Amino acid sequence: MFADNLILRIPGPTPIPPRVQQAMNRPMIGHRSGQFSELFMRTAERLKPAFGTSQDVYIVAGSGTSALEMGVVNTLQAGDEAAVLVSGAFGERFAKICERYGITAHRLQVEWGDAVTPELLTPFLQEHPNVKAVFATHCETSTGILNPIKELARVVREQTDALFIVDAVSCLGAVPVEMDAWGIDILVTGSQKAFMLPTGLAFIAASERAWKVIDEQTPQAFYLDLKAYRKSFADQTTPYTPAVSLVFGLEEVCAMIEEEGLPAIFKRHELMRDMTRAAMRALQLPLMAADEYASPTVTSIHPGNAFDPEALRKTLRNKHNVVIAGGQAHLKGKIFRIGHMGYCEPLDVIQVISAVEMSLRQIGVEVPLGEGVKAAQEVLIKHV
Ligand SMILES: *Cc1c(COP(=O)(O)O)cnc(C)c1O
Repeated sequence: MFADNLILRIPGPTPIPPRVQQAMNRPMIGHRSGQFSELFMRTAERLKPAFGTSQDVYIVAGSGTSALEMGVVNTLQAGDEAAVLVSGAFGERFAKICERYGITAHRLQVEWGDAVTPELLTPFLQEHPNVKAVFATHCETSTGILNPIKELARVVREQTDALFIVDAVSCLGAVPVEMDAWGIDILVTGSQKAFMLPTGLAFIAASERAWKVIDEQTPQAFYLDLKAYRKSFADQTTPYTPAVSLVFGLEEVCAMIEEEGLPAIFKRHELMRDMTRAAMRALQLPLMAADEYASPTVTSIHPGNAFDPEALRKTLRNKHNVVIAGGQAHLKGKIFRIGHMGYCEPLDVIQVISAVEMSLRQIGVEVPLGEGVKAAQEVLIKHV
């Protein structure tokens, strides 16, 4: 095995395309130079289609959570109430950020593996008429479900004047997101998932409705003050030193997205989801998410008592150089998760399924070799 040929199939960080890696190796330039400003402005412009917005998209040096925190701290104050839709670890993170700032988080909690539906949200918002914002997770990475954001946005609009704030860190760029058309007020994502970059950039866009709220307050944070990013953006730069090399890479990512085209990218991810799910079913491994809410970017498998997912992960890593993810929080040691997003193609999915089959055999699980691969192949050949 080549140590540098790690097969990374976790839901972020994801593999970096060679041309993006190369772009990031370019010599450093001055961050207050005309050269950087031009790069920055043309790159920020090219993010808009993936966000489905005509608003400016701000680029922050930070991991995805920094943008989640921006969504909270710029819109709410201590003493305010918020509704937080919690379908897993990342929904819970939004609630914790709220609470850190003294905001009351009313959690609409569903079983991990389930999605938040409009039928659940409508009465919940009626019970909590004073919420000023509703926080939602688009792809709940910890369970592999994709919440129906478009439908949830409609409920928020119909029921309240609250802002609708969405974490799309693990799916933006891989699934359709229409910020303006759906009525999302703040949309955030990060660089190390479907955006095929290392960790280190966060992205955030705000609607006009959101800006009205943001403009009325001074956030209890300095680095995360969104108004500072808007002010600097007007001067074609960032308020603090930008992650220049990551922006070099980002420009290349934008080129790759434009070359493949968003519709083709969305189809590729759906195909990889369908292949992965067909394979797991063929191997009789229980899927966490229902078909209707299964994320195109990550698949969670819950083997029950059939075997220890941590033993599977260890064998994949040690014998095959393949890395998949385990469970988070109370699902630690209970599930495994396969990431299939970003720089990942259908044949890569065949590879990871094949490695999962062999590793299961190697830990003593009697799966029929090739059955999962075959099921995935059957799905793939229908599409190429
Ligand atoms: C990865 C992820 C984040 C951000 O995590 P960071 O470690 O801060 O980059 C937030 N939300 C979701 C849904 C994620 O998958």
